[in-house]
Amino acid sequence: MTLVPASRIVNPETDRQSKPYIGRFAPSPSGPLHFGSLVAALGSYLQAKANQGQWLVRIEDIDPPREVAGADKAILTTLEQYGLTWDGPVRYQSQQTELYEQVLTQLREQGLTYACQCTRAMIKQQGGLYSGSCRQLALTDKNNAIRLHVEQGVTAFIDKLQGQVFINPDMAHEDFIIKRKDGLYAYNLAVTLDDIDQGITEVVRGADLLEPTARQIGLMQLLNAPVPDYVHLPLAVTKPGFKLSKQNHAPSIADQDIRQTTWRALAFLGQQPPPALVHEPQTNIIHWAIAHWQLKKVAHQTEQILS
Ligand code: GLU
Repeated sequence: MTLVPASRIVNPETDRQSKPYIGRFAPSPSGPLHFGSLVAALGSYLQAKANQGQWLVRIEDIDPPREVAGADKAILTTLEQYGLTWDGPVRYQSQQTELYEQVLTQLREQGLTYACQCTRAMIKQQGGLYSGSCRQLALTDKNNAIRLHVEQGVTAFIDKLQGQVFINPDMAHEDFIIKRKDGLYAYNLAVTLDDIDQGITEVVRGADLLEPTARQIGLMQLLNAPVPDYVHLPLAVTKPGFKLSKQNHAPSIADQDIRQTTWRALAFLGQQPPPALVHEPQTNIIHWAIAHWQLKKVAHQTEQILS
């Protein structure tokens, strides 16, 4: 195990004073919800409601080339059908560009950003991690990607389910992209700024986002924002390394039996729902799940094979 100086280990539990709970589910509208997305939605919903918290829904529509027309509405309808009702208005990231631009300007004025002309192929040739070669070039932002100059990367953090997570130090110190060459805001910038702006106290999501968490925490620290707690749920996989995803056409849960699928998601999350629960109305299933929710029963692993 890598030895990390204690000062570089972020433990949100000790960094933050107790505040009313605000959680969120943040789907990208690139297709309908599948079983894997239901696990993230249900897990974040139950963790929020069992902590008497608010559960927000944010549509992460900042990558039009990957989006499917109408997927946002379909996702919201499916959440409602599954009894997962959100608090407050739904936030659309496409409407938050003023916030992203404002912070980008602030970081630029602090000398923490620079333009980069390297293509993906060039970086691959350098071994896959960006070396910072454009730092001194003073290129113009136009038609180039904007990177954050990472002075002190986060190399480890505590996840409430996965425990202490260590990040490859080279990756932790990589200057990552915050605005893409095509002018689109990068996921790490947008997600971090929205989590700060919406006052999220705990992020519950799939373990595929474990690595980017270190970058998001680093950005929060740079902006002097409080760091939320993190819970990364096991990913639903068909066999090791094969997660269900929109890209591999996992079936939509909108076409499945709602009660049975919810029961399966609760079982996947280790909650041991009684067999008879599946015959109850959906509202009763959700009530049972809130009343019996125990985070510690969820498997402490990044992947779990679907049975
Ligand atoms: N929008 C991301 C996705 O659908 C999730 C972002 C997050 O939960 O931080 O994969």
